[in-house]
Amino acid sequence: MKYDFSGVLDGDSELIYTELRDRYLTCSESYEREKVVKKFYLRIINLFHQSFTSNDINTLYKELALYKISMNIPYIIMTNEIYGLKNLLLSRIAQNIEGNKILNLIALFKEINNGVAYIYLSRYTQEIYTVNNIRLSSISDLLEKDIIIKHYESHLNWLNDLAKHINNFDKNDFPELDGMQCEFGRWLNSSAKKIIQNNSKLKSLMRLHNDLHMFAKKIFVNLETSEYHVLISYLEKCELISLSIGTELALIDNIEMNKKMTKDNLTGALNRNSLELIFKTQYDFSYATDNSFVFAICDLDYFKNINDTYGHVAGDKMLRFFVEIVKKHIRTSDIIIRYGGEEFIIILSAIQKEAGFKVLEKIRQAFEATLLELDGQKLQATVSMGAMWIKPDKVYRHALLDEYVMIVDKMLYCAKENGRNTIEAI
Ligand code: GH3
Ligand code: MG
Ligand code: MG
Repeated sequence: MKYDFSGVLDGDSELIYTELRDRYLTCSESYEREKVVKKFYLRIINLFHQSFTSNDINTLYKELALYKISMNIPYIIMTNEIYGLKNLLLSRIAQNIEGNKILNLIALFKEINNGVAYIYLSRYTQEIYTVNNIRLSSISDLLEKDIIIKHYESHLNWLNDLAKHINNFDKNDFPELDGMQCEFGRWLNSSAKKIIQNNSKLKSLMRLHNDLHMFAKKIFVNLETSEYHVLISYLEKCELISLSIGTELALIDNIEMNKKMTKDNLTGALNRNSLELIFKTQYDFSYATDNSFVFAICDLDYFKNINDTYGHVAGDKMLRFFVEIVKKHIRTSDIIIRYGGEEFIIILSAIQKEAGFKVLEKIRQAFEATLLELDGQKLQATVSMGAMWIKPDKVYRHALLDEYVMIVDKMLYCAKENGRNTIEAI
């Protein structure tokens, strides 16, 4: 179909681009990217100076979409930009009230948006396939065999199958839509009920899983409608919910590990023997669920003085007191390990950087502010920490515990140098 909007975008293309950028383009591009994007838009704006076919403009937008994808610009931003140009054109046409032109314009932009959505969708389904396979290999790498996140494998395979069917627009042999019948759903509704003691966690898993199947059904219904943006939104929902399910399973596994791993006799923190296994497990959990965690080493300040002044029994009590305070501030799925003497390692699972460091800071403050009462005396101690936020990279797979311990140890050293009772974190 041929379109003719001549007169609507008359004027200097550079100025029109500036208006578009300032009012409607949502992402702030780097200088280099802006130059590339601007070239695309000048070509698009120039099209509007004469009549053109939908193929002319769709080809340009497809090229732009491929460039945006290569720069990791999400679909939602791309689609906002398309609406930006549409709005600019509508506001200009509205000044001259030309009904037909408005209808034509709306039809044209629907077509453009759908073309771009198609490209994003096919990239997205392929990407799901790639990252899901990394997630799957992280789970099969897990050394700890007796854990429930193993059941997540069937779920990731289901998601891969869903992505494959969307990519081929194929309704035949579609992945199981009934949440009670898929492999994961069957497990969730039978043995999981016995294994997962925590009722609210089980309920939240079931809710997530129901939602997931609801969105998969919506995908099935919409598969032949060519409303590609709708498929993108639903598939994004499915992926996010899947990751949440994985995270919930990992947290439940952590709670169980906390229960069954051997404890340090004095403090009740986990024994150092389990550190290697636990660290590696957190690393793989993070891969499998697209999450991150915080790893910290704590060392009580001037602890020798406490022993020297009040005796070893008081020192022992202080160590126990520290672990109690830490446990009050962390979740049951977080981990505290006695690393040696008055040194502890804390692992906060499935947490973002700022939130994780905030928890550590609260522990530091609480330990400083809460005094240990002993034989009528009130003892105060403080703690220094070195901490690190760990987000395993999509490509680089490396979980050498020693390297991470070395990093947080260096941070701890800085905290001590900076006067103690403080946290240094990266
Ligand atoms: P800094 O602020 O530099 O960390 O000083 P610090 O005195 O804490 O460091 P240092 O490493 O010199 O002393 C640690 C002390 O912790 C020495 C050791 O006697 C004591 N300690 C280690 N394990 C235990 C324990 O199980 N019970 C008691 N009561 N003390 C312990
Ligand atoms: Mg020490
Ligand atoms: Mg110390």
